[in-house]
Amino acid sequence: MQNNFDWAHGFIINFALSNGASPEAAPIRRFLSQMTGMYADQQAAEALLKYGDPLIYEYYDLGAPDNAGDLAFGSSITYPGKIGDEYFMTKGHLHAILETAEVYNTLSGTGFMLMENGDGDVRLMPLQPGVAVYVPKGYAHRSVNSGSEPLVTFFTLRADAGHDYGTIEAKGFRNLVVERNGRPELVDNPRWK
Ligand code: MN
Repeated sequence: MQNNFDWAHGFIINFALSNGASPEAAPIRRFLSQMTGMYADQQAAEALLKYGDPLIYEYYDLGAPDNAGDLAFGSSITYPGKIGDEYFMTKGHLHAILETAEVYNTLSGTGFMLMENGDGDVRLMPLQPGVAVYVPKGYAHRSVNSGSEPLVTFFTLRADAGHDYGTIEAKGFRNLVVERNGRPELVDNPRWK
């Protein structure tokens, strides 16, 4: 099937990412070297980087026009693994238009959506097939893969929302999702500013 992104008249696309049939848009890839400062265990990150630069996650942004009435959508794939005891995760972000919600639906894999707002309200929602997560407006959000397979999600939000990565890069999240006694656990982030 040939993908034809006709935003004005509608379209269908091949979206079977887990079968290797990806949208024609190239994925944006994030390797550990691009986010070492985001993991709590800096020594573990540096030790891993001596042997290579693992791909942590990638996402497809299908390039909706920047209009309030259009819907941006795409897919993110967060790979399984840990830095120290902290699971592989996305950078996480706020929307440039802060008052913008988003829906994530998990296609395969298991993990969590870590969310927090400016008042310090923290929510940890499951990412698993058959469960959709509503990320409310004003909440920073990050996907965390606590499973052993790639975590593949579909997301959609208003097309002109934009992204703010800088706030999280500077402050971090208040909490981390780590493995304790073989299970995922939410703990305080000692490096939160
Ligand atoms: Mn978002």
